[in-house]
Amino acid sequence: FTSRELTEHQLARIERLDGEINSFITVTPEQALTAADAADDARTKGQAGPLTGLPLAIKDLFCTEGVLTTAGSKMLGNFVSPYDATVVEKLKAAGMVSLGKTNMDEFAMGSSNENSAFGPVKNPWEVGAVPGGSSGGSAAAVAAGLAPAALGTDTGGSIRQPAAFCGITGLKPTYGRVSRYGIIAYASSLDQAGPMARTARDCALLLNAIAGPDSHDSTSVARGVPDYTEELDAPLAGLKIGLPREYFGDGLDPQVDAAVREAVKVYESLGASVREVSLPHTHYAIPAYYVIAPAEASSNLSRYDGVRFGHRCQAPADLMDLYKRSRAEGFGEEVQRRILIGTHTLSEGFFDAYYTKAQQVRRLIRQDFLDAFEEVDVLMGPASPTPAFDLGANKDPVSMYLQDIYTIAVNLAGIPGISVPAGFVGKRPVGLQILGTHFAETRLLNVAHQFQ
Ligand code: GLN
Repeated sequence: FTSRELTEHQLARIERLDGEINSFITVTPEQALTAADAADDARTKGQAGPLTGLPLAIKDLFCTEGVLTTAGSKMLGNFVSPYDATVVEKLKAAGMVSLGKTNMDEFAMGSSNENSAFGPVKNPWEVGAVPGGSSGGSAAAVAAGLAPAALGTDTGGSIRQPAAFCGITGLKPTYGRVSRYGIIAYASSLDQAGPMARTARDCALLLNAIAGPDSHDSTSVARGVPDYTEELDAPLAGLKIGLPREYFGDGLDPQVDAAVREAVKVYESLGASVREVSLPHTHYAIPAYYVIAPAEASSNLSRYDGVRFGHRCQAPADLMDLYKRSRAEGFGEEVQRRILIGTHTLSEGFFDAYYTKAQQVRRLIRQDFLDAFEEVDVLMGPASPTPAFDLGANKDPVSMYLQDIYTIAVNLAGIPGISVPAGFVGKRPVGLQILGTHFAETRLLNVAHQFQ
């Protein structure tokens, strides 16, 4: 195929299917076809790399030059970014063809995509179910065959959980592995961008292109980028797998439990050994996250004041009225809830009791993982306690927060994690989550690949 043919095929599928799925907020056919032609040219000249000419869907949290970038929010409903995020720039340089920007929970806050100002996304496997969130549009687009690969971000599970719900592969890299420059910030000490695709190999190819230090992001780590495809086929004999006791307890759907244990057996048949390990502070991950993430969010989102960016209310009486009404109108309910929580926990008199304490807990959670990785090479467990739930079924914010019990600690610790498809409950996919120590992406991709 030429890139033009492939791109036209994807655009036609989007046209035909996305009215129902709603995975894209913006589709950019003209830019896509121009880029496809350029990729075909490069190929003719013998200048093509492994990603040249392949279509890509980009979560609407990534700034894209000249293209609407909304973060799923009415607040940025008219924001056209003047520049590309570093990862977008890198994928374009690798010859990828952006099809457009995908739907998401507003400012990446959510686990079901129901918090989008652009309407919910439907799960392509069963349209009555959510696709997961916050990168639900990216996951659904890949699952529905609207794009072969997508970019997502993961602050507490937003790549891995939607990948699990949509039956695709999604990798959250080590914090600092991938530049955050040009990604609209949610919780800066947790946010990380990563690939979402059908296979571990595709994720490895994308990671090859996006990983690496960036002078625009001081938290990106100065460390060389290996070829992540190189070890995909390395044998797994002798691999030590740990099953965290706390990831198989109360609240885990028995059919998800069974699917994950079946997957682990496949690894045993490949020569891996399995033992139980403990991550004793797991229980504190969600409370610590819901102090740290809203605190950072309240600070990051203070820039949306109706003056410099985005939505501005009509006919403000004075400056305070402008701030208040612009923010009240521009932000959705969940975002406002988190700004309030974050502002409260950072306020004088509460800071030590909440934020400082949560940071101490975070350190313990990180140490749990480091201790476990003294004993085993990787950890395995479910990506989510249940398969995709029904749209509208989960109305209580706290029960929604509890959905992320197996993913959130990973961001607090800064380690990488991948979700790979591991069967179904009825029509709804189940994700196996594989975790490794800092910068163990090569290992995770190797282990994920052997299952597929
Ligand atoms: N569901 C979590 C939240 O709402 C995580 C979201 C994410 O990873 N961006 O904050």
